[in-house]
Amino acid sequence: MTTGRLAMFGGPRTLPADQASADAVGWPVVTSAEREAVLRVLDSGRFTSNNSGAGEVQLLEREWARYVGAAHCAALSNGTAALEIALAAAGVEPGSEILVPALSFIASAVAPVQRLVVPVFVDIDPVTFTIDPAAAAAAVTPRTRAIMAVHLHGLPCDMAALRTLAGRHGLLLIEDAAQSHAAEYQGQRTGTLGDVAAFSLNVVKNLPTCGEGGLLTTDDEHLHRRALRHRQFGERLDGRAKRDYVSHELAGNEKLSAVQAAFARCQLDRLDDYHAARDRNVRALLGRLGKLPGMLVPQCPDDRTHAWHILRFRFDAEAMGVGDVEPGALRAVLERALRAEGVPVQQYQAAPLTLQRALRTREGFGGYPWRLPGADRPTDRPQDHPTALAVVEDSLTLQRWHLNPAAAPVLDGCAAAFEKVWEHLDEIGAMARAMDYTPVWRQQRWLDGSAA
Ligand SMILES: *Cc1c(COP(=O)(O)O)cnc(C)c1O
Repeated sequence: MTTGRLAMFGGPRTLPADQASADAVGWPVVTSAEREAVLRVLDSGRFTSNNSGAGEVQLLEREWARYVGAAHCAALSNGTAALEIALAAAGVEPGSEILVPALSFIASAVAPVQRLVVPVFVDIDPVTFTIDPAAAAAAVTPRTRAIMAVHLHGLPCDMAALRTLAGRHGLLLIEDAAQSHAAEYQGQRTGTLGDVAAFSLNVVKNLPTCGEGGLLTTDDEHLHRRALRHRQFGERLDGRAKRDYVSHELAGNEKLSAVQAAFARCQLDRLDDYHAARDRNVRALLGRLGKLPGMLVPQCPDDRTHAWHILRFRFDAEAMGVGDVEPGALRAVLERALRAEGVPVQQYQAAPLTLQRALRTREGFGGYPWRLPGADRPTDRPQDHPTALAVVEDSLTLQRWHLNPAAAPVLDGCAAAFEKVWEHLDEIGAMARAMDYTPVWRQQRWLDGSAA
């Protein structure tokens, strides 16, 4: 089959803009159920998290605990707050260390810093993109107190290995499950695989609300009770008829609103159906893309299911017949070519977390937590995590489009666009070869914060 010139060189676009309509690829999907639920809250006059058991927030908590199979769930203002409160409720002390994968969303590292816990970065596995248990074991010090198991892109981490490591050193095992709603590991849902878990209900996630929200799950009743106090100024509200305004612990305000909860409950009703449709659609897409030489599609080990929150594709220049080209230059040209064909691929994390200026400079919070006695460790360097660095250089992601359960025809178009680009790898290679490319971790904007 010949499909003509590349769209970036003036040829026809594979996926016309009007094909990617809101009905096909919009997210979240909003139905009359959400509209009615939100209006019901407005008419009820019950807007807060504390409505003696009958409010939308408590209903969501009960339903989510049942869904994942956890004993307890606390609804919170967002996923970052859920991570932070998980650390606070578990009593992880300021100045202690937590192992965090070098490739993640920055919240995985910022939540510990906000609790004055030092993130220690660990390299990832090149296939699953989740924290490498052997590298994690090597990063344990006498100050390590916790592991942040980020189920990145929606794939559960190697939890058996992480549980063994946590058990050996007495570490708290936190799941950052912000991207992994409904994903399973050995038959158990994420949210039940460690000591405590944090989910995000942000509008872009697989279980979205109409804005911001978070859920914390645990089987530990003591931890759950502390989490409830931590979301409202350290007050004890459980079962009390009247608020007494006594703060037993130093804590802020991290509650979820009833409107957000009502919207999320409607999404939860459809989560299994959406998850099943997405799994079918994504596997069909990956089946086609996996046939292209040098295209490394995301994998799902047999003992897990994948929430497919983000699809990450790695490119093997050698197998694509352009082995002399810099991986980053090749990725940059592929991004341009695919976007011109109508596929909105993009980088997700243009650099490992170690390169984030906010973390590297240690300027926030007056230099804390690193200024705490004994907490000053050398800054992690990007070269220390070669897999994370290689992955950001040689991969692109597809986000959001495939979340919609009706995305199959558009994903067919995406597959056709990739196939067309692969017919022109000689041109792609030539363009990448001619490019003046500097790897992202050597770029000035990462090193000194100057504009891109
Ligand atoms: C989205 C996300 C978070 C933070 O959740 P928010 O609700 O946006 O605060 C944390 N970790 C990961 C991996 C995420 O993707």
